[in-house]
Amino acid sequence: MSKMMFCFLLLIPPLAFADKPVVAVDVGHGVRDGGAISARGRSEFAFNRDFSERLAGQLEAQRIAVREINFDGHIDSLVARPEAASGSDFFVSVHHDSVSEAYLQAWVWEGRSLTYTDVKKGYGIFVSAANPFPETSLLCASAVGAMLRRAGFEPTPWHGRKHQAADAVNGVWYYDNLVVLYRTTLPALLFEAGVIKHRDEELLLRDPVRQRRMADALASGIAACLQVTGKLAPE
Ligand SMILES: [Zn+2]
Repeated sequence: MSKMMFCFLLLIPPLAFADKPVVAVDVGHGVRDGGAISARGRSEFAFNRDFSERLAGQLEAQRIAVREINFDGHIDSLVARPEAASGSDFFVSVHHDSVSEAYLQAWVWEGRSLTYTDVKKGYGIFVSAANPFPETSLLCASAVGAMLRRAGFEPTPWHGRKHQAADAVNGVWYYDNLVVLYRTTLPALLFEAGVIKHRDEELLLRDPVRQRRMADALASGIAACLQVTGKLAPE
């Protein structure tokens, strides 16, 4: 190769996507195990899929590439999810929350007998101390919680009953034995967008404009965290 040619090659910027960090977005549950059932009878999986699609769009707007995990709902195994994410820079599992049986009340919605709660609402973020990167996981979870609060979303204090606080102000809790958080080679968090058994919050969680605002807060928090850890170049 001539010297001139070599210099020319050095001037070519690397392909844009080669520089982008990759965040794996996992749609919680699936077609066969739909997860919780909302107050109006919709599966958690349907909520998770809608929100994950919004989140993917907002991450891409933050110059982050997305690896879609279980967007078609056909990955049943929990272990397979972080495995499918291998090689990414961060892992986010998207869920929606319920409440234990003792706090459910019965009602009939459009002819169906269903259950709801009035006692619990708000988002929650989980990290595992057994994850191989607990500091990065918590750093990103706190950044996400701070962005969500800044955007006007409120964490549920409910998880304090069962879980040790990691950063309670920002709605971050420890849940060490979650398979998707510890059987992994990536820093990771699990996001519960809200409580679909809560009748009012369920409607808010179905609002596409609000979904987008929430996804934007989540993506901004992840972007801020990836900048601090050197995975994403500052703008
Ligand atoms: Zn779930």
